[in-house]
Amino acid sequence: MKKIIQDLSLEELETLVLELGEKKFRAKQLYEGLMQGKSIRAISSLSKAFKETLCEQYEDEAIRIKETYVSADGTEKYLFEFADGNLVEGVLMKYKYGYTQCVSTQVGCRMGCKFCASTLGGLVRNLTAGEILSQVLIVNALHRSEVKSGLGDGARAVTNLVLMGSGEPLDNYAEVIKFLKNVTAAGGLNISARNISLSTCGLVPKMYALANEGLPLNLTVSLHSTNDEDRARVMPVAKAYKISEILKACKYYFEKTGRRYYFEYTLIDGENCDEEHAKALVALLKGLPCHVNLIRLNEVKERTLKSTSDKAAYRFLGMLEKGGLSATLRRQIGVDIGGACGQLRASYLDKNE
Ligand code: SAH
Repeated sequence: MKKIIQDLSLEELETLVLELGEKKFRAKQLYEGLMQGKSIRAISSLSKAFKETLCEQYEDEAIRIKETYVSADGTEKYLFEFADGNLVEGVLMKYKYGYTQCVSTQVGCRMGCKFCASTLGGLVRNLTAGEILSQVLIVNALHRSEVKSGLGDGARAVTNLVLMGSGEPLDNYAEVIKFLKNVTAAGGLNISARNISLSTCGLVPKMYALANEGLPLNLTVSLHSTNDEDRARVMPVAKAYKISEILKACKYYFEKTGRRYYFEYTLIDGENCDEEHAKALVALLKGLPCHVNLIRLNEVKERTLKSTSDKAAYRFLGMLEKGGLSATLRRQIGVDIGGACGQLRASYLDKNE
C-alpha cells in the first residue's frame, strides 16, 4: 500500500510540494481539495503532471464507500473500504443541531468485549490518522450541500464526531491524537474538540496521557458494570484496570480540562440492570461531575447476551435519577440497519466468505 496523503497537515503538505519542486501555494490548493473530500486526481486546480507525481507515492483514493444503508429514521450507515481492501463501518446520525458521525479507529479490535461485534475477529490493524480523517471527509462531502454551515464557504455538514466505531481509540493513541489535531485544525474541517466524544473501554495510562494533551474533548468511558468482578465477565480489560483506577483517571481529566466526563452503560438483561445494580451505580458515581448514558444492547447474532425491555430500561433510568445521577437513555436509532459496532463488517465478511 502507498502512503496516505490525508495523514499530512497543511504545513507538512507545504514541505512536500516544495520537495517535489512545486510552488508553496500548491499545498493550499491540495489541502483544500482534500478537505473537500476529493481524491488527488479529482483536484482540478493542480496540474495533471503534479498529480501523477503525487500518486506515485500516495494513494489516489484513501477510502471508498463500498455500501450505504439508509434507515427509516434517516440514519445512514456506510461500509468503507481502504486502499488495502480492509473494511470498517461508520454511521451518520442527523440531528436538528447538526450531523454527528461515528468513526472507526481500528480494523477490528483486540479488547474482546463480550457484547461487541468489532472484536469477533480480533485486531486486524490500526488505521492511520489520515484514514480516520478520510472517513469524515468523504461523508462530509456527500452531505455538504444539505447544510447551511456557519463557515462562509459552506464546507462543513458534519459538526459532531464520536469515536465509537470499530476499535479502541486509546489502543491506537498516536494516530488518534494526530487525527484529532488535524480534524480540529482551523484551516481544515475545523470541528470543535468540544463536539468530539472519545469513547474508551478504560485504558488508564492512556487516559492520563489524553488529559495532558490539552484537547477539550468529551471523554466517555464504557463502564457497563458497577464492580470489577462483574465487569471482567463482559470486558476482559477489567482484569488490567480496576474501576477505582478509572475513576481516579477521570478525576484527573476533569481537573486538567475542566470538562465533565461520561459513562456508557449498556443494559444487558440479567447481567447489570436490576435494582441492586442501580443502587450500586448511584453509590459509585454520586456527586461526581459525570453523566451516564444508558444504551440498550444491540443484540449481536454471534453473541448470546440479551437486551432488556423498554420498561426495564426506563425503570433503571428512573432509579439512577432518583438517586441523584445525571443520566439519559439513548434513543435507539438505526437498529434496522445493524447499528452496533462491527455488525455491518461482520455480516459483510460472512456473506463473502
Ligand atoms: N472501544 C471504545 C469504543 C467502542 S464503541 C469503547 O470501548 O468505548 C462505543 C460504545 O458502544 C461502547 O460503550 C461499547 O461498549 C458499546 N457497544 C459495543 N457493542 C455494543 C452492542 N452490541 N450494543 C450496545 N452497545 C455496544
